[in-house]
Amino acid sequence: ANGNANGNVNGKFSNANRNGQTNSSPWRQKIAQQRKSLPIASVEKRLIEEVRKNDILIIVGETGSGKTTQIPQFLFNAGFCNNGKVVGITQPRRVAAVTVAKRVADECGVELGQKVGYSVRFDDSTSNSTRIKYMTDGLLLREALLDPYLSKYSVIIVDEAHERTVHTDVLMGLLKTVQLTRSESINDGRNLDNGNKNANGFMLDKVNGQNGSFVRKDRREKSSPLKLIIMSASLDARTFSEYFGGAKAVHIQGRQFPVDIFYTRYPETDYVDASLITIFQVHLEETPGDILVFLTGQEEIEAVERLIKERLSKLPPGSQNLVVVPIYAALPPEQQMRAFAPAPSGFRKVILATNIAETSITIPGIKYVIDPGLVKARSYDPGKGMESLIVVPTSKSQALQRSGRAGREGPGKCFRLYPENEFEKLEDSTMPEIKRCNLSNVILQLKALGVDDILGFDFIEKPSRTAIIKSLEQLFLLGALTDECQLSDPVGRQMARLPLDPDYAKALILASQFNCLEEMLITVAMLSVESIFYSPRDKYEEARAATKCFASPEGDHITLINVYRAAADFLEKRTMEMNKAKSEKVLRKWCNENFINSRSLRHARDIHRQIQGHVQQMGLKLASCGDDMLQFRRCLVASFFLNAAMKQADGTYRAYASGQVVQIHPSSVLFRKKPDCIIFNELIQTNNKYVRNLTRVDHLWLTELAPQFYAVQN
Ligand code: ADP
Ligand code: MG
Repeated sequence: ANGNANGNVNGKFSNANRNGQTNSSPWRQKIAQQRKSLPIASVEKRLIEEVRKNDILIIVGETGSGKTTQIPQFLFNAGFCNNGKVVGITQPRRVAAVTVAKRVADECGVELGQKVGYSVRFDDSTSNSTRIKYMTDGLLLREALLDPYLSKYSVIIVDEAHERTVHTDVLMGLLKTVQLTRSESINDGRNLDNGNKNANGFMLDKVNGQNGSFVRKDRREKSSPLKLIIMSASLDARTFSEYFGGAKAVHIQGRQFPVDIFYTRYPETDYVDASLITIFQVHLEETPGDILVFLTGQEEIEAVERLIKERLSKLPPGSQNLVVVPIYAALPPEQQMRAFAPAPSGFRKVILATNIAETSITIPGIKYVIDPGLVKARSYDPGKGMESLIVVPTSKSQALQRSGRAGREGPGKCFRLYPENEFEKLEDSTMPEIKRCNLSNVILQLKALGVDDILGFDFIEKPSRTAIIKSLEQLFLLGALTDECQLSDPVGRQMARLPLDPDYAKALILASQFNCLEEMLITVAMLSVESIFYSPRDKYEEARAATKCFASPEGDHITLINVYRAAADFLEKRTMEMNKAKSEKVLRKWCNENFINSRSLRHARDIHRQIQGHVQQMGLKLASCGDDMLQFRRCLVASFFLNAAMKQADGTYRAYASGQVVQIHPSSVLFRKKPDCIIFNELIQTNNKYVRNLTRVDHLWLTELAPQFYAVQN
C-alpha cells in the first residue's frame, strides 16, 4: 500500500535537506527543537495521565499548539501501541491527514507508510507496521464495515471535532457504541453471545454474518478497551462533554501574538480582484513574512495563481521575489507538501488555500492573512431532495480562526475583504454539516453496520426528520433498501461497499448490466474531480477550439470519456519505454496543449484505478459498449433518474424530482444546443441555479428505466 508516492514526497521536499544525514544532523536537531518549543510539549506527562484515567477525554487547544502532530507520538511513547495496537487519528480533510502524517513521519525519522502512515479515500499509505495512522473520518467509518469493533485500535482520536462534518458526527455516535461493547466484553463474557443491542440499536454481532470463525476471532480481539479522545480547536468543549456523558475536558494553553485586523471601507464586488490587489500591496509594502489567502476552491485558486504570475511578470525584476503555492484537496500529495517548504531566501511565499488552512493544518511562517470572508459549503434542501455546493459567508468563529493564523510566530496582520459592519452580521458559528447535507450516504453505511433505526440513532445533533425520510426514500428508489427499509442484498450491500455516493455506486452496478462499465468507471472518476477543462480569460477562444475535438453532441459525460481516452491513448503511444516521471511530464504537456487541467486529470486517473480495483473485487463485469453510446446514455437514465430535467418554452429547464427551475451551465457542451430532456450530475447555485455535466436523453426512457419513480409520478 505504501507506494512510490511517498518516495516522491520524500525526494522532493524536506528529505532533500537530510539525504545521508544522521540522527544528529542539523535538520533533525531543528525538528527536535521545534517539537520541544510547542506549547504541548510541557504537558506530555499530564496528558498521558489523563488518558490513562479517562476512557473518553476531550482536548481543546488552539490551532498550532501541537495537538495533531504530538499527541499520537506521546501515546506511542507511553506504550499505547504495544502488542501491535494502532493509534488512529481522524481528520475531516484528506489534505490534513496526508500532510500531517508526512510531518510526523519526519519527526519520528521514519519512512512514511511504515510506523507512521495515512489512509484516505483512493490513497492508502499504511502497512502492517503502521502504529500511528492518520485518516479521514469517512475512512474510519468505512473501516467499521469490515471490522465492527475497530479491534486493531487502542486509541482513536477524533480530531477537528469542532468542524462537525457529517462523518465526524456519525463516527462519534458509532464510537460510543464500539467503546461500550469492547469494555462490556471484558467485564462480562456473556454479553458476547446474545448479539446485544445497545441504545443505538447497533447490532454488533449481526454485522459479522454467518461465519463462525469470524465471530470467534472478534470475540478475542474486542476484549481490550478502547480509549477515545475528542480534539477540538474551539473553546467550547461543553457540547462534546455532555454528549459523552460528562466526559473530562482539558485545555491546552496556546501561544498567540496580536493580529491587527483591517477591513475594507466598502463591500467588494469582485473579491478575486480584491485579493490580488491586497496580495501585491502586502508584497510591495509590508515587511518580510508569508501570506496566506483563503479562497473557495480549486478553480478559483488556479485562476488566482495564474493572475499573480501574470502580474508578477510585469513588475520590475527586483520586486518579482514572490512564490505562489496552492494547496487544496485534489492536489497530488507531493505538491501539497510544497506549502510547508520555506520560500527560497529573499523570497516571500503566498499560499492560496481553501479553508483547510483554517484549523486543519498549520503552515509555518505566515504573517499576513487575506480573508475574503467566504467558504464553499454543502447545502441541502430536504423538501426538494437536492444537494448543492454554494459559496457562503464564513461564520465569526471561522473569521477569527483565519485571522489567528497570522499570529502564530509573531505579531501579524489580517485583511478582511469586507466592511467591519458585515462582520457583526455573521453567524457566530457554522451549522453542523449534518443539518445541511444529503444523508443517503451515511444512512447507507449505518444500515450496512446494522443500525436499523436511523431516527433513533444517538446523533450529537439530530438531522431533521424530513431529511432522514427523504434520504431513506432516495435509497429505496435506488434499490438499496427493501420495502421493510432493510439493506437489500446484493444491491444495497454492494452499494455500501463502494466508497462513492449511492447514486454513483448504483451507476457502476447497473453499468455492468448495461455492458458499459468501462465507460461508467471513467465517468465516475472524471465526475469526482473538479474542472477537467480550463479556459484562461485571455485565451478563451483558443481553449474552446482546442477542446472542440473532444466534444460529443450527446453531452458532457461522453465528452469527459473522450478526454480520458484521448489522454490514455496518447500516453500509451508515447510511453512504452519511458519511466513514470517522464510520462507524467509528457502528459502535462499534452494537457497544456489541449487546455486540460493536468492535476485534475491525474487525480481522475488515480481514482479510476482505485474504483476499478473495487468493482473487480466485487466481481462486476468489466465490459465496454464500444461505439454504442445509446447503452451508456440509457444507463445514465437508469442511475441518475432523480436528476432529470425537461426543457421549458423559455429555454430554462424544470427538474422532474424537485420541481426546481435550472439553467444549463455555460461550460456545458450542450449550452448552445439545448435538448428537450437531460440528465445532470451537479447543481451549482450562484445568482442562478445551474446544472453541470449533462447528457441528452429520451424522456420516454424515464418511465421505461425508472418506473419505480416515473410510472407513479406520470
Ligand atoms: P494543532 O493540531 O494543535 O493545530 P499541529 O500539531 O498541527 O497543531 O502543529 C504543530 C506545529 O507543527 C505547528 O506549529 C506547525 O507549524 C508545525 N507543523 C505542522 N505540520 C508541519 C509541516 N508539514 N512542516 C513543518 N511544520 C509543520
Ligand atoms: Mg490539528
